[in-house]
Amino acid sequence: MKVYKIAYLGEDEDFFSTLERELKGANFKLVSAPGDYHGIRRVAESDPDLILWDLDNEPEPTSFSIDKFQQAGLKRQPIICIARRGTLKAAVRCLSSGAIDVVFKPIQDPFIPRAAAALNVGEIQRRLEWSSRVIEDTNNQIRAILANLKDPAYIVSPEFHITYMNRAAEEIFGEGLRGGACYTVFYDRSEPCEVCAKSDKPGRWRAVLKNGKTYRFVSALVRNSSGELERIAIGIDITPNQEVKKIHKTFISNVSHDLRTPIATIDQYATIMLEGLTGELSEEQRKCVEVIRRSNFRLFNLVENLIDANKILSGEFKLRMEITSVREVLDLVLDKLREQAEDKGLRFEVEMPDDLPRIYVDKARVAQAIANIAGNAIKFTDKGMVQVRAGFMPRDEGRVIVSVEDTGVGIPREDLGKIFDLFYRVEGDRVYVEEGAGLGLSISREIIRAHGGTLWAESVEGIGSAFHMTLPVHT
Ligand code: ADP
Repeated sequence: MKVYKIAYLGEDEDFFSTLERELKGANFKLVSAPGDYHGIRRVAESDPDLILWDLDNEPEPTSFSIDKFQQAGLKRQPIICIARRGTLKAAVRCLSSGAIDVVFKPIQDPFIPRAAAALNVGEIQRRLEWSSRVIEDTNNQIRAILANLKDPAYIVSPEFHITYMNRAAEEIFGEGLRGGACYTVFYDRSEPCEVCAKSDKPGRWRAVLKNGKTYRFVSALVRNSSGELERIAIGIDITPNQEVKKIHKTFISNVSHDLRTPIATIDQYATIMLEGLTGELSEEQRKCVEVIRRSNFRLFNLVENLIDANKILSGEFKLRMEITSVREVLDLVLDKLREQAEDKGLRFEVEMPDDLPRIYVDKARVAQAIANIAGNAIKFTDKGMVQVRAGFMPRDEGRVIVSVEDTGVGIPREDLGKIFDLFYRVEGDRVYVEEGAGLGLSISREIIRAHGGTLWAESVEGIGSAFHMTLPVHT
């Protein structure tokens, strides 16, 4: 069993003998020293667990301060002040300057419970100090690691104020930016970015920074020694190599354009055959030609998507803007989507208020994005419904929000952040059954971004998904 060392700093022999009697037989070892400079030093060397500080030592007890103990290295020990009965002012002064308790002389109540309580408080304080030191050390280590990264990294407070930037980040954005709001300084925004504002979990996002390079950022939350959750963000340079990008672009462009002609020819000839212009087809032959035509149509979609994705990748993406309404945009695609949904036995619902503000968009492109998203919703839903809803968000200058919700298979949490990446498809049985190349969502996101809007997804596996897009209203 641990024996606690109690140090009495004072010269009152009567008091000391009373203490000795009181503590006899308990797990305490009592030592004493005069309350002067040398006495305090001596006691510090013996590293006691509790200090009893006799205020009789003080020329003016109300000027008591525990600084002198701290200076002597007695930082962790709880201090009980011993005062003469009736010196209330001195007692108050002791407590307010950091002592844990005051005991009046002569001792009347049992002393052991008081000593035990003080030791207990001391132990809790010690553990707290230790934990915050560990947190502080960890934070310093993290900063040391970040300092040496060649990629930009920064730390922000819960209010999104920059508390740290590494050299690489300073080289991109400039120095002296600490204290500023990260969304303004880094991303020229007037409010926190959705990825951080909407979630207190680790996040991932892409950003083109002031040096023209593209970074994939990952962020994590770390508690600092004041108990606040700070966000650490690290960007990884994913700027495509220009040469490789050029080869990519030319390759995809050539291959896809070359494929367009044979695909059109296959469709023409399959249609001619189905219409009986090359002679009557047997039932078996008709089925075969229909399969050819359907597969060819899948190929056609793939090639058209590739051409689109290529345009987006190479920045050759022009919008034909006009003032229109969500209703007019939806009218371009709703009939086909409804038919697809009903063919699968799904309910298809559209809900939107009549008084939605006008929007300024490229009608065909936004319709393409909605068709991609709602097409996915139908594709990945076996029973239940697909719903398209539109509404108004009075944020900034006002935004129209269009949501597509389904009761389908849902998207695993770990894939949710990746489905907007080019060619990304969620691994699983479904991916082999459903046609697609993992291009639709990345194209859709680029289309919405090009309009100054946002496209994001929410999903619960096995329950369903919701995709939301915002579009700025026409002012
Ligand atoms: P694809 O052509 O493969 O559908 P997308 O880019 O449109 O490509 O979608 C990427 C992937 O995201 C899909 O392959 C699918 O795994 C997943 N996904 C998209 N929408 C949904 C949805 N509504 N429900 C479940 N999974 C979806």
